[in-house]
Amino acid sequence: MTMGIGDRHQKKDAEAALKRAEACGLKVKHDKNRHRWGFVICCPCNDDITVNCTPQSTGNEAKRIDGFIRKHRSHA
Ligand SMILES: [Zn+2]
Repeated sequence: MTMGIGDRHQKKDAEAALKRAEACGLKVKHDKNRHRWGFVICCPCNDDITVNCTPQSTGNEAKRIDGFIRKHRSHA
């Protein structure tokens, strides 16, 4: 394994959405905060969303990330 286990989101849906964000050129920042997994950042806009470690619904978390990707994918 080349990537530290702490760098992956424990929820598969959210992890897949974070991979899509990276593929679109958005910046994914892992934060070691207890409740916050990290951020997805659009550098040109200086806009970001928080990614939670333990969202109540992982499907919604992935959708939220995908919404951010749709909004910002053309900027990166
Ligand atoms: Zn943007």
